[in-house]
Amino acid sequence: MDIKALSRDQLASWLQDHDIKPYRAFQILKWIYLRQADTFDAMTDLGKNIRALLSNHFTINRLEKIHIETSQDGTRKYLFKLEDGKHIESVLIPEKNHYTLCISSQVGCALGCRFCLTARTGLARNLTGGEMIAQVRDVARDLDDPKRLTNIVFMGMGEPLANYGNLIHALETITDSDAGLKFSSRRVTVSTAGLAHKLSDFGHATNVNLAISLNATDNRTRSMLMPINQQHPLEKLLEACRIYPLQPGRRITFEYILIRGVNDTLEDAKRLVRLLRLIRAKINLIPFNEHNGCDFLRSEDSAIHQFHEILLRNHYTAIIRHSKGEDISAACGQLSADRTAHKA
Ligand code: SF4
Repeated sequence: MDIKALSRDQLASWLQDHDIKPYRAFQILKWIYLRQADTFDAMTDLGKNIRALLSNHFTINRLEKIHIETSQDGTRKYLFKLEDGKHIESVLIPEKNHYTLCISSQVGCALGCRFCLTARTGLARNLTGGEMIAQVRDVARDLDDPKRLTNIVFMGMGEPLANYGNLIHALETITDSDAGLKFSSRRVTVSTAGLAHKLSDFGHATNVNLAISLNATDNRTRSMLMPINQQHPLEKLLEACRIYPLQPGRRITFEYILIRGVNDTLEDAKRLVRLLRLIRAKINLIPFNEHNGCDFLRSEDSAIHQFHEILLRNHYTAIIRHSKGEDISAACGQLSADRTAHKA
């Protein structure tokens, strides 16, 4: 069993069951996450017996790096192979002074959003917490200066809230400031397609940032783009956002992919203003990344700017986000873990 599948408390109680002081869990996890140890033998401040016991019961898995593709803008797309031979992708995005890593939470996805390549494969399985954590740990080790990796976004393959228990475990380790990966919760964001019934639990279980992939302002358009809207229509989703237990000073990010002639009219922008009125919100406008096999087109520049202008005029913080890594299919909605696209 991969030891990363255990939380600190679970490891402490396992140690206790084997007559080892639970505080050793802290030491072991520090070796794994802070010192990037690959073997229990490397953990020189543990006695030989403990190291042997751990080696007999656990492994410290790394993901198998099949391919790394680098975009003209410096974005790096990692194709990883999992223990069972399945594949996932993670995307490292260079910003001015730091890196952001976009990670996957499932192999494929069941939600079927029409603008997303991941949707085509359907859902193969959930990732374990250890596999989510490993994407961060393994990419950090690849960097000359791992400290520059400061931001994590769960916006890769899969719907994170559909893999709830494993997501919470991964978030605990990623944000554990003693013996975990030490990311500030302010710099970790989980994006959901809108599983409204999970939002309250999520908000009480963690204090990382929440993003909602909204993409439409009426139920007919949203259900066409995102079939999950039939189960969790806009009213239900936005009500869950209104009562979401937001930390002081935080806002919910609403992502809005702008698709020509589908959701980018003046009326859409005005409706969006009304819909978000009672929510502490900021908005990311993402011009659609065109890709093969999908008929949607990116909105005209004039429509994008007009939409943006209306949000600004209504005092919203709204940013036009041009996705990076488009030339290597690493941009928003383009992840497919399609091995045939890689020269492994
Ligand atoms: S956009 Fe996200 S939730 Fe929708 S199909 Fe793609 S991966 Fe799944």
